[in-house]
Amino acid sequence: MLSSARGGCFRAKDGSMLSTMTRPFYIAWLVILPVVLLGGCATVRPPAHAQASDRTMMVTAYCKCKKCCGWKRTWYGKPVDVRTGKTKKIGRTASGTRAKEGRTIAADTSKYPFGTVMYVKGYGYGRVEDRGSKITQEKIDLFFRSHNRALQWGRRTMTVRVWTRQ
Ligand SMILES: [Zn+2]
Repeated sequence: MLSSARGGCFRAKDGSMLSTMTRPFYIAWLVILPVVLLGGCATVRPPAHAQASDRTMMVTAYCKCKKCCGWKRTWYGKPVDVRTGKTKKIGRTASGTRAKEGRTIAADTSKYPFGTVMYVKGYGYGRVEDRGSKITQEKIDLFFRSHNRALQWGRRTMTVRVWTRQ
């Protein structure tokens, strides 16, 4: 009798404490979630009004390092593009996004414009956000967070599913 009454008392106390504790968190999530989603952190899914087709592609991998992206540091430490000599923002794609593994794909944007969704087996859904001088025609480059992970991928000729706008 006594224990059940105490239990009930504790439960009530816990319950009211929880509701006052969770409300700020709940409100915080309502604010944070749309920011996260709009910030491009959401996983890529095939667009609703797009035509899917399978294409045979040469799929290579890269990271943000000097070797992969062709940049170097000037004598005073500023990263510049080896070819153009322009300031290089490390980890930024040609479309202006922050490169992310499992999302960022470099492609020939004259053929596959920025925003084109692709599915690569072993990598998942990705989006064309970047380009490269050697990435032409049916070649794509997958972004990885480290050079080692990019090396692990290597070079594969495989079928890639591409969603193009009609
Ligand atoms: Zn690299």
